[in-house]
Amino acid sequence: MRKLAQLLQQGEVSSTEIVQNYLDRIAQEEGRINAFITVDKEGALAEAAASDARRKQGEPLSPWDGIPIAVKDNICTLGVRTTCGSRMLENYVPPFDAAVVTLLKRAGLPILGKTNLDEFAMGSSTEYSAFKAVRNPHDESRVPGGSSGGSAAAVAVGEAPWALGTDTGGSIRQPAAFCGVVGLKPTYGRVSRYGLVALAPSLDQIGPIARNVGDAAVLFSLIAGPDSRDATSSSQASFRLQLEDEPFPKGLKIGVPEEYFGEGLSSEVRQAVENALSQLEALGAVLVPISLETNVYAIDTYLTIAAAEASSSLARYDGVRYGMRVEAHDTNTMFEKTRGRGFGSEVKRRIMLGTYVLSASHYEAYYEQAQRVRTLINQEVQRAFEEVDLVITPTTPTTAFRIGEKRNSLEMYLSDLYTAMANLTGIPALSMPCGLDSQGLPIGLQIMGSHFQENVVFQVAYWLENALKGGSLSNG
Ligand code: GLN
Repeated sequence: MRKLAQLLQQGEVSSTEIVQNYLDRIAQEEGRINAFITVDKEGALAEAAASDARRKQGEPLSPWDGIPIAVKDNICTLGVRTTCGSRMLENYVPPFDAAVVTLLKRAGLPILGKTNLDEFAMGSSTEYSAFKAVRNPHDESRVPGGSSGGSAAAVAVGEAPWALGTDTGGSIRQPAAFCGVVGLKPTYGRVSRYGLVALAPSLDQIGPIARNVGDAAVLFSLIAGPDSRDATSSSQASFRLQLEDEPFPKGLKIGVPEEYFGEGLSSEVRQAVENALSQLEALGAVLVPISLETNVYAIDTYLTIAAAEASSSLARYDGVRYGMRVEAHDTNTMFEKTRGRGFGSEVKRRIMLGTYVLSASHYEAYYEQAQRVRTLINQEVQRAFEEVDLVITPTTPTTAFRIGEKRNSLEMYLSDLYTAMANLTGIPALSMPCGLDSQGLPIGLQIMGSHFQENVVFQVAYWLENALKGGSLSNG
């Protein structure tokens, strides 16, 4: 992105030209990929023209002023339809911008449109989108991952230079891995959730998806920072990092948890991740075998808590305040018909599951138990970070699966095997490409850091990216 920013600054190219280029690319690829639910052509071109006018005055809002972006369709955009991939919100036009959207606009980024997702961000393939399934640009018969599959596919195929996604159990990292791009789930509280349509508020975070580590770090710096409108927003200072100037942190301890390399892991994924680990060792990192044995409980714990919170978050869609309303002769029937027709089956399944685990007779056995296990997972992760600086694992057990391959929800839930732990504990986690399998499909590697240690995560990712490219960066 630095190159594009430089060209803009030198007047070699205008924002209008850049935006038009991406719109052309969208027109060319969308029939094949389905990454967008809404393309805001007029809005993006108007913002580009305003950006060009600012540049002419010598008053760009930031170095990135005029470089466009795509935004996942569960993040509210003033005046632009925000559907969450659901019939329930098919015609919902927010009267306000999410905090992250305000920040993007303040930096001068035109918004190309809103990207496709699994309904209300529940899923790992975008097949649960009420509108259409996104296709993986590397192989159209395969899924791009989910729920931020539209954002990841759009970036991978060049329909947008970068995009925002959201991650509750893996929804930025898993699609980033499947599409061969970089995605970060930030530390919980580092990016404001104001204006993000809630799935599970104690787990949700908004984060960047980009083509390389440097761009992801820039986009993260644009959206990170405190916000009084999100009660869980941390007062932690915003994020700044000049990646190029940082030497490799020699002696850095990287934990490699055996539980993430066990049953279910494809041998090709394992090989690619192990190869990347040896590259890091060659750069001066110390690999430390560790154990994160509570990870076997991560998916169950995640699902219980996420469903409980979702059942509560989604109670607001009652046919009165937001979105769809199916008329009926009395209020209860209106309510039933609206929710019956507005929600797809996966969303209904989670609402029922969540209502069940929160019900008076089962609360202790399920919801409270899940919270206790969450505490145990937290304690174990905390102990691990007393011993090591980072933890590296595969992002997903396999590469992208075929559309229609996962026949039931339980199989789909296993996609989060390596990612849910970071959401349960609130730590930052980044996925980056680390190779291709024998079918040419991207393989993702996950770097997890301690709370608010995104700088170390990015730094190591940056060095690894260069090492994997066979880059000429000297060590130190
Ligand atoms: N795949 C997970 C789920 O279905 C994650 C979703 C997400 O992170 N938004 O719940």
